[in-house]
Amino acid sequence: MSNPSLLILPGDGIGPEVMAEVRRIIDWFGARRGLTFDVSEDLVGGAAYDRHGTPLHDDTMARAQAVDAVLLGAVGGPRYDGLDFSVKPERGLLRLRKEMDLFANLRPAQCFDALADFSSLKREVVAGLDIMIVRELTSGIYFGEPRGIFEEGGERVGINTQRYTEREIDRVARAAFDLARKRGGRVCSMEKANVMESGILWREVVQAVRDADYTDIELSHMYADAGAMQLCRWPKQFDVILTDNLFGDLLSDAAAMLTGSLGMLPSASLGAPMANGRPKALYEPVHGSAPDIAGQGKANPIACILSFAMALRYSFDEGAEADRLEAAVEQVLAEGLRTPDLLGEDGRGPVSTRGMADAILVA
Ligand code: ATP
Ligand code: MG
Repeated sequence: MSNPSLLILPGDGIGPEVMAEVRRIIDWFGARRGLTFDVSEDLVGGAAYDRHGTPLHDDTMARAQAVDAVLLGAVGGPRYDGLDFSVKPERGLLRLRKEMDLFANLRPAQCFDALADFSSLKREVVAGLDIMIVRELTSGIYFGEPRGIFEEGGERVGINTQRYTEREIDRVARAAFDLARKRGGRVCSMEKANVMESGILWREVVQAVRDADYTDIELSHMYADAGAMQLCRWPKQFDVILTDNLFGDLLSDAAAMLTGSLGMLPSASLGAPMANGRPKALYEPVHGSAPDIAGQGKANPIACILSFAMALRYSFDEGAEADRLEAAVEQVLAEGLRTPDLLGEDGRGPVSTRGMADAILVA
């Protein structure tokens, strides 16, 4: 059997800095756990534009389609602000997501005990929090037709259309249920079936998928507005939240803020199953290229490290190794190690990007 393959796209700004630390962690898994990956590396974003005049070379796109998982750092930066829209760094990432058809966006909101005081909520509300939002990413109101600003009866009208097909709902529901099987076994689906036709269909299809193929999963439904309220009131009641593109945009940002720093948050975007049964997948930290701190050794590598942990769990079926990595992160935070973005009164003084990764490696 050949080794699982991983394409690394460090990108711009702090992307290469945090990814260098992830590479050391990948090497550690090879040397210490016998878990060896065929790792290749390529350019994306501004770095690709500088070399090829395009933010994503066709060869890179083809490699991304061929590997078991893609791990991306970040793209963009002020150097590229003046570029034509068609070659902006962000377009490279958008092309990856679109051509890989990554329809399920996974954003965990996980609160490490040592950082519970970072939240705007009370410690007991967030400590130990571990929920996952699955947001439909390639359809819904951001893509539905008709859309545009039209002239109507002497005034302009702006139109967007919320549109979901059964197939689109079915596949993202399956992604959420598969995920729930590797977690707490519970899914709460959120829409507005009380006022939206797409919401009625959403609820129907999600329930049908569950009743047909996932009877081991506990499924509940909630109106998205009530869900937002519950998410702020007592987030620990949830395991997996399944929702559409628009509501997912709002709910995942809200959930992210339950836990504190941008430098801690990983994400995954999953597509259809490949020949090996695993989904096409791209893993990336939620944060951007952070040009204000790039090149200074200040970046928190944890979001990117946790993105690799997600890859271990969801692309490589190495849940126990993912647990091991997450436990190491938890341990160094408990010991008081903090990159500058995490500095509170309890910190031991700031450590560098490299210092944080070193500590995680020995933990
Ligand atoms: P993008 O448009 O690419 O999302 P952005 O400007 O919206 O970029 P970030 O690049 O994520 O957002 O940066 C937002 C702020 O958070 C910056 O001040 C940055 O320094 C900080 N930040 C982001 N990621 C990290 C990190 N890993 N470690 C420390 N600070 C970070
Ligand atoms: Mg941003």
